Amino acid sequence: DDPAHVHIGIDWLESVAFGHIDRIGERVLVIGVGNTAMDCCRTSLRLGARDVKVMARRSRPYFKASPWELSDAEEEGVAIIENHAPSHFVIENGRLVGMAFDVVEWYDDAGRQRSRTLDRVVIPCDDVILAIGQEPAYPWLERDIGIAFNEWDMPVVDRVTHQTTMTGVFAGGDGAWGPENIIWAVAHGHQAAISIHNHCTGVPVTERPAVGMNLLSTKMGLHEWSYSNDYEPARRAAMKHVALQQRLMNVKVEVELGFDLDQTLREVERCLNCDIQTHFTASACIECDACIDICPMSCLTIVHDAPDAELRQRLTAPANNLDQPLFVSEPLQHTARVMVKDEDVCIHCGLCAERCPTAAWDMMRSEILLPYAGQQVPTGVEVAL
Ligand code: SF4
Ligand code: SF4
Repeated sequence: DDPAHVHIGIDWLESVAFGHIDRIGERVLVIGVGNTAMDCCRTSLRLGARDVKVMARRSRPYFKASPWELSDAEEEGVAIIENHAPSHFVIENGRLVGMAFDVVEWYDDAGRQRSRTLDRVVIPCDDVILAIGQEPAYPWLERDIGIAFNEWDMPVVDRVTHQTTMTGVFAGGDGAWGPENIIWAVAHGHQAAISIHNHCTGVPVTERPAVGMNLLSTKMGLHEWSYSNDYEPARRAAMKHVALQQRLMNVKVEVELGFDLDQTLREVERCLNCDIQTHFTASACIECDACIDICPMSCLTIVHDAPDAELRQRLTAPANNLDQPLFVSEPLQHTARVMVKDEDVCIHCGLCAERCPTAAWDMMRSEILLPYAGQQVPTGVEVAL
C-alpha cells in the first residue's frame, strides 16, 4: 500500500550500491535475520537512519546471520528483537506508519518447534526492508520448450554434466538445486563449462576429463619441514575495525582493516595444514615401530594382512568407522606384514614422519589439479572423481 517505504532487501542494497537510493527514514525495521538483513540494517545507518531494528521470528540460536555480522551490527547500535513474527503493515492516509508483530514463544511439540502468540504489538517506523529468504523462480521460462521441471518447480539437471533435459541447455548454482554456497556455484560453473565445450566440439557431455593430484614432499632436512607444523591453539584474533563514527559517515568505507603483522603471524599458525598429507613408502620401512610408538592417536599398526573386517579389529585401536577406508600398504620387505593407518583418527600432526629414521613416512603437500574446459588432463596423478 506504500511501496515507496517497503523495500525488498537485495533490490534495495543494489539500488544503494548503484547510487539510485541515498537516504532512508529515521526509523527502519528490517524483517529477517540473515546476512542480507545485516547488510540492510547497517546500510540504513549509513544512509541516515537513527533507530534501526532487526525483527526476528525466532530466538538468537536460530539466526542465520554469522555471529560476527550480528555483533558488528549491534556494535553500530542496531537493536535485534527476538520472537516477533510479522503480521501486517500499518498504513495511515496511504503512508506506512508502523508494522504489527505477534510476540511469540516457541515450544517443542513431539520434536517439532511450534509457536504460540502471547501478544500483538505495533512498532512505529518510516521504512520496512524485507530481508527474508529468497528462492529461484522461473516464470520467464516457457514450460513447453523441452526443459522438464521437478516437484519444487526447479529444472531437472544432471548432477554430473549439469545438462537439463534439453540438450545444450545447462544449469548450476542455486538455480539448479536450491541454496548452496558460492563455492558450489563456482564448481557447478566449472563443470558446466566442460560440458558446454564438449557439446560444442561434438564430444559426449558424459565424457569427463579426470581430476589430477600432485604430491610434493615438504621434507627440508632430518626434522625440518617447508610448512610450520606447530599448531597454535590461540583463538581467532579480533580484526581491527574503522572507528564507529567514521564508518557510519560513508557507505563505501571498508569497516574491517585486516590483520596487522603480529596478528597475521599468529593467525597463520592456527592453520590446520589440511593440504599436508601423510605418505608412506613401504620399501623404505625397516619396521622399527618408532612411528607406532609416537603416534598420539594410536592410528598406526604393523600387522599381518587380513580381510578388512578382521583387520579393523586387530589394529592398535579398532577402526569402527566403516565409511572411512583403511590405508593398507604394500607388504613390508622384512616380514611381509603391512602398515595400516586409520585415517579416521589421524590428526596429521606429522610426528610419525618426524620420528621415522628412513623417511618411509613423509608429509606431502597435496594439490588437486582440476581440468579446465578444452584442456588436457593436468600433469600429476589422475584420480577418479
Ligand atoms: S600424522 Fe600424527 S596422528 Fe597421523 S599417523 Fe602420523 S603420528 Fe599418527
Ligand atoms: S618409523 Fe619409519 S621405519 Fe620405523 S616402522 Fe615407522 S615407517 Fe617404518
